Amino acid sequence: MNGKAFTEQTAQIALQQVLAQIEEATNQAGRKPGSVKLLAVSKRFPVPNLLSMADCGQRAFGENYLQEALEKQVSVRDERPDLQLEWHFIGAIQSNKTRPVAENFDWVHTVDREKIASRLNDQRPADAPPLNVCIQVNIDHSESKSGCSPAEAPALALAVSQMPQLRLRGLMAIPAPSDDEAVQRAAFTALRELSVQLKAQLGVDTNADPDLLDTLSMGMTSDLSQAIAEGSTMVRIGTALFGKRSN
Ligand SMILES: *Cc1c(COP(=O)(O)O)cnc(C)c1O
Repeated sequence: MNGKAFTEQTAQIALQQVLAQIEEATNQAGRKPGSVKLLAVSKRFPVPNLLSMADCGQRAFGENYLQEALEKQVSVRDERPDLQLEWHFIGAIQSNKTRPVAENFDWVHTVDREKIASRLNDQRPADAPPLNVCIQVNIDHSESKSGCSPAEAPALALAVSQMPQLRLRGLMAIPAPSDDEAVQRAAFTALRELSVQLKAQLGVDTNADPDLLDTLSMGMTSDLSQAIAEGSTMVRIGTALFGKRSN
């Protein structure tokens, strides 16, 4: 982990740059200011870096590796019991590791099959608020990626929407990187259109249920502006905030 040169000032500069980029893309798309949330992806960076970012006001953090995330949560709680962070799990979920995810996170972005959803629902503590869930969709049919197919999404969304300890917040995708901006944007467009289709199929009434299917988790360091142009409501940013990961 390359934490040494990372100070609160480094964090502040990076955070302001990313927030400015989000604001600019939001304006250019003619969207409402503040309609895109920043998720700081702190995987492979140590707790002090994460805390520097938190001290600049960032509250939502995304982690990919369960063991690493759980250890960081313990350290953060020990060092800063006052600090209320929002933890998002954005890594692959193994079905035998759902319990710690259900118990220790506020959001999960990577639900891609009913078995996982059902286990998370059963294992979410009864006294906790429902776990916020995004369904991960393999939107560009890439071979290496996890995520359900677009065709599987309606049935999975319906199942998740009926699980009382889960809250179906939206869809998430990690399109294959492409130098061709049109190709990259097409994947984001497809995710947005799928979300519109699901809302119609589930009969979502946005007035009655403002937080049901309200989220499009898409956009990373290299493509955040395009994702926002296509309707992203949550960008997941690692490199632009914390620097290059060493592994
Ligand atoms: C690592 C990761 C990110 C952040 O990627 P950057 O390119 O470093 O911004 C976002 N989402 C997921 C699912 C990731 O694994």
